[in-house]
Amino acid sequence: MVPDYQFVGATNMREHNQLYIDGAWRDPLQPSVLERTDPATGKVTGRVALGGEADVDAAVAAADRAFASYSQTTPQERIELLERILVEFDARTEDLVQAVTEELGAPVALARGAHLPSGRVQIATAIETLKTYPFTEMRGTTEIRKEALGVAALITPWNFPVLQPVGKTVSALAAGCTVVFKPAQLTPYSALILAEIMHAAGVPAGVFNLVNGRGSVIGKKLSSHPDVGMVSFTGSLPAATEISIAAAPTAKRVTSELGGKSPHILLPDADLNVAVNTAMNWLMAMTGQLCSAPSRTIVPRSRLEEFLNVLVPAVEAIRVGDPRAETTAMGPLVSAEQWDIVQGYIRKGIDEGARLVAGGLGKPEGLEAGHFAKPTVFADVTNSMTIAREEIFGPVMSVIAYDTVEEAIQIANDSPFGLAGYVTGSDPAAAHAVAEKIRAGYIIINDTDFDWSAPWGGYKQSGNGREFGPDGMEEYLETKVVRA
Ligand code: NAP
Ligand code: MG
Repeated sequence: MVPDYQFVGATNMREHNQLYIDGAWRDPLQPSVLERTDPATGKVTGRVALGGEADVDAAVAAADRAFASYSQTTPQERIELLERILVEFDARTEDLVQAVTEELGAPVALARGAHLPSGRVQIATAIETLKTYPFTEMRGTTEIRKEALGVAALITPWNFPVLQPVGKTVSALAAGCTVVFKPAQLTPYSALILAEIMHAAGVPAGVFNLVNGRGSVIGKKLSSHPDVGMVSFTGSLPAATEISIAAAPTAKRVTSELGGKSPHILLPDADLNVAVNTAMNWLMAMTGQLCSAPSRTIVPRSRLEEFLNVLVPAVEAIRVGDPRAETTAMGPLVSAEQWDIVQGYIRKGIDEGARLVAGGLGKPEGLEAGHFAKPTVFADVTNSMTIAREEIFGPVMSVIAYDTVEEAIQIANDSPFGLAGYVTGSDPAAAHAVAEKIRAGYIIINDTDFDWSAPWGGYKQSGNGREFGPDGMEEYLETKVVRA
């Protein structure tokens, strides 16, 4: 796999010395500087100011002040605000594509085709939701009101740096909440552009605040802050646990969207090309860095070798390389740390006796400078192996054989996670019946398109709550009863 093009690399250094608080760019009160490197080359691409606890206090105070008036706006006023945000978002599309490519290493085609549209849908959906959402209803003689919950802290991971921040922000703003946003340190550039979009759209001072910084400092402070009403978190279970503990003494609402080890069941009559497309689109294209990736592929034993004969050549043909090249299908992993984690799991798969049928340890030839991994497939995996139990967050597929469909469903559900599930089968009724039995929040049958406005969230240890669309907005609402 030798790339037949030159790396373009970052063209100019990014310098961001300020945080966005109370409607203005401000120097951090407790400054420190983060250097971000390019996942594809390892070279420094920019320097970003990080804040400290005093900056969180300033941002929460601004959000708390702004809440008094913003929470009283009408749905129509918030529709108009979101429409202005949509205009500014569209104006910055190409800047966001570049940012996501540079900070995450997402191939530019994926950034343009998935990262940006999935974020845009959130804004458009919030506008539609507000047009009809019943904030007040009568049940008999009792009035039921839905009101903005308060200041919302938004804490996001690095793997979908447009979708997650935009989805949470517009849900909060649609509900009438004000926001303090802490993005992942690994993906600061798109977050800074989001703040610029909010400013350009005329979001009132204090309604949206951005504090870059460490999860252990900024995230922790937000989670325990008495003036924060809720935390909307996406990331890992260990961080969610710390947030929930920090939030408990002030009885905050905490919603969490966590990891997964999502099963993909191939029924005995599955079209193998459809099954391979599911693996390509939802596991390999994102370099496996998707919480809902179909990382466990559950295949009829009688069709196992036939499936591998279709899958392996497709995996070996994946164009891994420079994310700035339009033809690249898979970029690097986000960081050296993530690369080490993925290598550790590949090593573990080999040591635990799985059969390596594609990829493996090390970097693809010619791609030694960045955090590139080889698209990897293990066959003869049992569901008790580490590579079937734990989220790898890399381009590693575990193929598990089954004898009966009942056993396939049992394997699918034998996981601490329950974020997503995939079913491939030629009989729609049979495939749907299996979908009903998978204990997970989002099931895709036969590689159907994703609906980014549908409620998103997990069963079991994959989280608590739903985001996106009307369900997502409701996370930011309190319920009040008035009897007169
Ligand atoms: P992570 O390590 O949990 O970090 C997520 C965010 O939480 C980051 O902004 C992080 O800050 C912050 N954080 C870390 N410790 C914290 C603490 N004690 N208190 C408050 N905030 C804290 O997750 P990640 O490595 O960024 O992302 C990968 C994980 O996210 C995977 O498990 C993946 O499955 C999950 N994910 C889930 C979904 C979903 O919708 N279900 C979507 C995407 C990703 P810093 O890292 O900047 O320090
Ligand atoms: Mg992390």
